[in-house]
Amino acid sequence: KEPTLGNPQNTIAVLQKYNFVFQKKFGQNFLIDTHVLDKIIRAAEIGKDDCVLEIGPGIGTMTQYLACAAKKVIAVEIDKALIPILNDTLDGYDNVKIINEDVLKVDIAKLAEEENDGKPLKVVANLPYYITTPIIMGLFENHVPLQSITVMVQKEVADRMQTGPGSKDYGALSLAVQYYAKPYIVANVPPNCFMPRPKVGSAVIRLERYEDAPVYVEDEKLMFRVIRASFNQRRKTLANGLKNSAELDFTKEEIEEAIARLGKGASVRGEALTLEEFANLSNALYNTRK
Ligand code: SAM
Repeated sequence: KEPTLGNPQNTIAVLQKYNFVFQKKFGQNFLIDTHVLDKIIRAAEIGKDDCVLEIGPGIGTMTQYLACAAKKVIAVEIDKALIPILNDTLDGYDNVKIINEDVLKVDIAKLAEEENDGKPLKVVANLPYYITTPIIMGLFENHVPLQSITVMVQKEVADRMQTGPGSKDYGALSLAVQYYAKPYIVANVPPNCFMPRPKVGSAVIRLERYEDAPVYVEDEKLMFRVIRASFNQRRKTLANGLKNSAELDFTKEEIEEAIARLGKGASVRGEALTLEEFANLSNALYNTRK
């Protein structure tokens, strides 16, 4: 079946047929540009063997494209007003399963087990921007089997995911994403490709999950506590950030000793450290307590 949605006319026709009212609280901005849809599908590299998880299908625009390319599509949508619409727009696409749920409450590892024999999923979505970080971090931290995540996000968030030390956008999200995956910004997308238009610019980013972590970490949870503490107080030195953290309980001496081992000076700031240096720092702290 050829996709019928993806342009403004057909989107408006569907919305009118169902008297659909946009819900701001659900971050609803529907795609109305076929070029952008093609680009996302291409970047996601979906083949006939792939099982795709789509988060927030909306009226099913991208779902139609995904259904044509994939073996199976599981679409999780929170807004129950969209379910009858999806049943209509996806009528005849028999490889789509619609789940009316909050994606943050779905056990996605279990879903992969049931729907794809535990094999890795590909996640593709035009994400609701208000929960971008919990969605992405939830997928990574819960060790959901997945190959890649190709998603539309706020442009600034895409920049934060991709950047390294020395940029103002560098922070805990950059490090978390880059510990789990290789990021690649596919395209910038202007507000006029959506209905209604978002107030911010958007970008499509592809995150390719590493099979093995790029750095050696003794205790992942400790490393992420160290990372959060380092960026909590941006204008302070790394040493002060770690000393003041409620999540860490190392002594002043242990912290200073671990920082000294980095060889970057006592007044180094967290935003100057690479992922590898955060791994080394957290391993040094870990070893003081072994
Ligand atoms: N995929 C559609 C498109 O591209 O036109 C819609 C994208 S829209 C930016 C985000 C979608 O996510 C909306 O349909 C919204 O209702 C849905 N959504 C918001 N919060 C959600 C949640 N917690 N769980 C599942 N879906 C959610």
